[in-house]
Formats: sequence, C-alpha cells, structure tokens
Amino acid sequence: MEISRNNLFIEYFGYIDGKLYCEDVSIQNVASKVGTPIYIYSKKAILDKINQYKEAFKDYDTLICYALKANSNLSLLKIIEEQGLGADIVSGGELYKAKKAGFPSNRIVYAGVGKTDYEIEFAIREGILSFNVESLMELEVIDQIAKKYDKKANISIRINPDVDPKTHPYISTGLKKSKFGIDIDQGLDAYRYAAKFDNLNIIGIHCHIGSQITDISVYKEAAEKTADLVFKLKKEGIELQYFDMGGGLGIRYRPEDNVPTPKDLADIIIPVVKQTGLKLIIEPGRSIIGEAGALIAKVIFLKDKGDKHFVIVDSGMNDLIRPSIYNAYHHIVSVKQNSEKMVADIVGPICETGDFLGLEREIDKVERGDFIAVLSAGAYGASMSSNYNVRPKAAEVLIDGEKFSIIKEREDYRHISLFEEEIL
Ligand SMILES: *Cc1c(COP(=O)(O)O)cnc(C)c1O
Repeated sequence: MEISRNNLFIEYFGYIDGKLYCEDVSIQNVASKVGTPIYIYSKKAILDKINQYKEAFKDYDTLICYALKANSNLSLLKIIEEQGLGADIVSGGELYKAKKAGFPSNRIVYAGVGKTDYEIEFAIREGILSFNVESLMELEVIDQIAKKYDKKANISIRINPDVDPKTHPYISTGLKKSKFGIDIDQGLDAYRYAAKFDNLNIIGIHCHIGSQITDISVYKEAAEKTADLVFKLKKEGIELQYFDMGGGLGIRYRPEDNVPTPKDLADIIIPVVKQTGLKLIIEPGRSIIGEAGALIAKVIFLKDKGDKHFVIVDSGMNDLIRPSIYNAYHHIVSVKQNSEKMVADIVGPICETGDFLGLEREIDKVERGDFIAVLSAGAYGASMSSNYNVRPKAAEVLIDGEKFSIIKEREDYRHISLFEEEIL
C-alpha cells in the first residue's frame, strides 16, 4: 500500500492513485458509505502522539491528562484512557464522559472558572485527583460541599502567571486581564486562605496559559514564575505534590507550519519543575487529537459571481466553527486529485456571511458530488459543533489500518427537536 502514496503534511493522510486515503482507507469510500458531513480520525495518528508524549516525559514522574474539551468522543476517550492517560475536565458533562470512558478518578483534574454546586458535588463524590480552583469564592464553596459529604477535596490553585502565549486573543488565558486563575502576585495569599479550610486538601499548583502555542519559550517563563511561588509556599510550610503546567502545544494547520514537539516541551519545562521536586501534570488536548482528524464534506453546488468562485459544501460553521470565530486557517484538499486547479471560497450552507471553511483557496478542481477534506480538524471541531440552522450533527468515524467504524451516529431531525416535541 505504501508504494505510490503521496503523503500530505499530516501523517496518515495521503493520496494513492489520485484518491485521498486516511491510513489504508479510501476517504471517498467512507464518505459514500456513511454519507457526509463526517469527521474521520486516524487511530494511528492518535497513538503516535500519545507515544511521543510518553517518550518525552518518561524520565520524570508525569501524569498526562488529556483535555476532553478538544474532543470528547467516547470511543476516542477509551483509546486515550487505555494508554494510561488521565483526564482534564472543565464541566460535569465532561466528568460524566470521562467516567463512562473508564478514566479512574485519581487521574482526573478539573479546571474552569464557573463550577456549579451540582458539578462540585459530582466531582467530590467521585473523589477526583484535583480541583483546579480559579477564585477565592470557589475555595469556600468546595469546602462547604466537601463538609456536607464529610470528605476532604483535593485542590490546586490555578495561578495566572501573566505570560503572553503569543496566540489568538480568544485562546490566551494566562494574561492578567483574562478571567482565568488567580493573579500570581496574589498567589501566596490565596494559598494561606486555602490552608484555613478543614475540608480542603492542598495538593498542587496549576497554570494553563493558552492554546495553539508555537513559541515554546513562553512555557519556560510561566514555569519559572510558578516555581518561584512554589518556593515561597515551601518557606511558609505549605507543601505541594503536583506542578500542573496545563496544555496548549500548537499543531500544524498549514503545510509550512513548524511546531514544537512534546520533546521540546519536556526539555523546556522539566528542568524548571525538577527544582521544585514536585510531580508534573500536563494537559494536552489539541496536540493529541488535532492532526488526527479531518472533516469530510460533499460539494453541493458551484457558483460564480463574476471573478469570484464559490464551492458550496454540505458542512459549515455548525460543524467547524474555528474559521468563523478565530479566523482560523484549516488546509482544505480535494478527495479526488485533479491536474486542473481552481481558486474559490469554500463555504457552508448556513445563513451567515461568516460561514466559511476557507477563503480564496486553491484546490484541485471539484464538481458537484465530489468530496473535500478539511485537515487538522480533530480538535475543537466536533466538540464545538452545534445544531445551528437545525442541522443534524455530523457522524464520526474511526479509521484503523484497513478498517473503519462509526463511533458516532449521524443525528437526525428527531434528535434535534426531541426535548421540544415531548412538551408539545
Ligand atoms: C483547554 C485547556 C487545556 C488544553 O489545551 P490545548 O490547547 O487543547 O492543549 C488544558 N488545560 C486547561 C485548563 C484548558 O482549559
């Protein structure tokens, strides 16, 4: 199979005899059988990424907690859990899915600025490894709820180190002006405050500065600032066990992108964390699943307006919102190669001008009924999708060697209006 494969910049995606394959499966075949739109994922790509992480951090006591918000498909979570990873969650729903997929509670960490009482209760009953606490009021409420259950809740404080991750402002989380975490200069006071509660068990410190980070030096700055606070805490007799550096490693969206590897990340943060003697936690999401996934759509119509060409496909911002809200670039290719090229806006069916997958793109010429693939769509694709314009959510397919299997059925109209029909 490898003989005539013409690989793309994303591993496990390439052309054989003019047809796009994911691993050893023809995407055209999958799309014809399952219908479109579909998200497809390469199992090998996921396992490779996990192994890169494991290998990079193997010499230091590290818990790798996959961030569910990147993609929380249960079959994918099961694959990730089976590799021994933990889970980084940000809601009760994600806790529910993490437990369903088999993640043990002592490998689950829970961040987020707005945890409800119900969600806190749920996590306390499950006995998770750590609440990553983002405000003083949250400390009080977790203590009260833990008391009710006669339990001690493990907590870490999410520190905001005021480091610019040099990424899109909507996914920068570690700056002073952002809603996340507690400012680092108030960190010492926050820990002193936390130490007063009988039903809190202080176990660590947490920071997560942003997503799609490609300048690795920002991790060093964040780690050093956080380590300084760990030393100050030690002097006060507040001893921690875990140093959680969050996630955020960037992935390749464009063929020319050069991004840091898990090894680069390990080389830069381990020396800093080592000085504190604490165990390390990292929370990669995008970098585990992003490049492993693609969104496949079908060309519905072609339309010309003067010099401007549109390729209208059956998938848009309802399935993949990143181009619309972050102006994000996703590389788009035709599933069938064509020596003739075309330049067009590749747009969805949604009634919004902001509904596009790519603007002014050169792709191999397509016709009505052909398929296109939107690459690097495994993270923040399906997990951010919606039913806008009353469109059923896409099916999801896992590819493993020569086999493929449906890991999420396509929604139908009944699913979308179920909770309204019940009331009629
Ligand atoms: C989103 C998030 C992550 C994962 O970020 P990626 O960029 O997907 O690696 C990790 N930790 C926390 C607290 C998050 O909110």
